[in-house]
Amino acid sequence: MNAPAALTHLVPEVQQREVPPALIAALKQRFGERCSTALAVREQHGRDESSFEVPPPAAVVFAESTQDVTDAVRLASQHDTPVIPFGVGSSLEGHLLAVQGGISIDVARMNKVLAVNPEDLLVTVQPGVTRKQLNEEIRGTGLFFPIDPGADASIGGMAATRASGTNAVRYGTMRENVLALEVVTASGEIIRTGTRARKSSAGYDLTRLFVGSEGTLGVITEVTLRIYPVPEAISAAICSFPSIEAAVRTVIQTIQLGVPIARVELIDVNTVRMVNTYAKLNLREEPLLLMEFHGSPAGVQEQAEAVQGIASEHGGNSFEWATTPEERTRLWTARHNAYFAAIQSRPGCRAISTDTCVPISRLADCLLDSVAEADASGIPYFLVGHVGDGNFHFGYLLDPNQPQERVVAEDLNQKLVARALRLGGTCTGEHGVGLHKMGFLVEEAGGGAVEAMRTIKRALDPKNIMNPGKIFSV
Ligand SMILES: Cc1cc2nc3c(=O)[nH]c(=O)nc-3n(C[C@H](O)[C@H](O)[C@H](O)COP(=O)(O)OP(=O)(O)OC[C@H]3O[C@@H](n4cnc5c(N)ncnc54)[C@H](O)[C@@H]3O)c2cc1C
Repeated sequence: MNAPAALTHLVPEVQQREVPPALIAALKQRFGERCSTALAVREQHGRDESSFEVPPPAAVVFAESTQDVTDAVRLASQHDTPVIPFGVGSSLEGHLLAVQGGISIDVARMNKVLAVNPEDLLVTVQPGVTRKQLNEEIRGTGLFFPIDPGADASIGGMAATRASGTNAVRYGTMRENVLALEVVTASGEIIRTGTRARKSSAGYDLTRLFVGSEGTLGVITEVTLRIYPVPEAISAAICSFPSIEAAVRTVIQTIQLGVPIARVELIDVNTVRMVNTYAKLNLREEPLLLMEFHGSPAGVQEQAEAVQGIASEHGGNSFEWATTPEERTRLWTARHNAYFAAIQSRPGCRAISTDTCVPISRLADCLLDSVAEADASGIPYFLVGHVGDGNFHFGYLLDPNQPQERVVAEDLNQKLVARALRLGGTCTGEHGVGLHKMGFLVEEAGGGAVEAMRTIKRALDPKNIMNPGKIFSV
């Protein structure tokens, strides 16, 4: 998609560094067929779900162990060549694009669950384990891992993007649930951060530094995570509302009253129609809240009654319950697939997604003004939100042959982010900065804070080889 003049500030600065043939030769010698220079493999590792297009990395190394990662990073460092860690490629903001060239290190084959410690409610995994695979493997323990981005993302990628999902309102994000890491640094050294203890105040919190670093400070090769007992009772319900405002005001009151709701997701009318078509569902075509309650049977009933009461105060209809596990799974799969349902609703389109997050009391102000603007723009869009956290996503569905649509969508995005920052929020609640939000980070954090981030980057990656050109320019 060629960007019109109004978008030049959003076109990624592509300055691909020459990858020395000596490095490719050394990688092939070390990894054999696990180092691929095939164009299809490179192209697959040179894009993500964003709408940016950049030439692919020069080679892809399929790592199977921490030692593989160490050797690949060391060789790249010797040749001053960028390294881009690759999980499953579901990120949305241009995180994986080889804007400065280099090699991709795919960790999908590092997919072992290394240790399950039910007595400590902990699990240690390799980075290529996906969230669904993890839950499959611990199914028999009566425990589960709650962080659920819509895509079946890798745990390494989720840690690197500080991901969250529909359960974050109750169980937190990757920030709260990663206790310890093993990381290969930019010099190829292996370090460990954190411990298996629930808390620690020993030195700088390097775990929190690497969680959310988007592959720019090191390659995560092991992750120790919190897991939780599967609740005694789980109930899911759908409630439709006369307006988005009524739904959002219900959420604000529910959170302010401290109801420990497990999931509360907003879907607007446009998106309900898209999901009904895509997932062959028959959801009521009104603004909906999809909710889930966890706890003891009495606790779940108490929570549900409290929220039902609040919802009816705001004109919400009576709850439609998804009682069986199959019904619940169908409901949440539909929610997780909203993005794909939307993409399919306008064949050939590319989506630009937003990810602002605001303090709960400001959710209605931010969301309603942004809906009005999106409606006035005439650009097709979907709207879903982890509204219990004050986080929501517009997905502007753009025709790649209509560059003007991109201008309008980026303008909507800028207005939305400016509004969220004014209201004390952030430009990204869970997707990360990547390429697409680099400008917003400066507005949000300010020059001083971004300079502090640069100082950390330069200290830990003096050659600037770890996923360079992302988050902020160095
Ligand atoms: C349909 C859909 C729905 C989504 N819903 C959500 C959602 O609800 N919540 C949410 O938070 N996100 C969501 N996402 C975004 C995405 O799934 C997350 O950002 C996810 O965490 C990315 O994981 P990944 O394995 O795909 O990582 P990748 O896309 O492969 O990589 C993402 C970034 O992490 C780095 N990285 C990957 N692995 C490592 C590693 N081992 N060490 C160091 N750096 C690494 C990469 O270099 C890159 O910068 C969604 C995406 C899609 C397509």
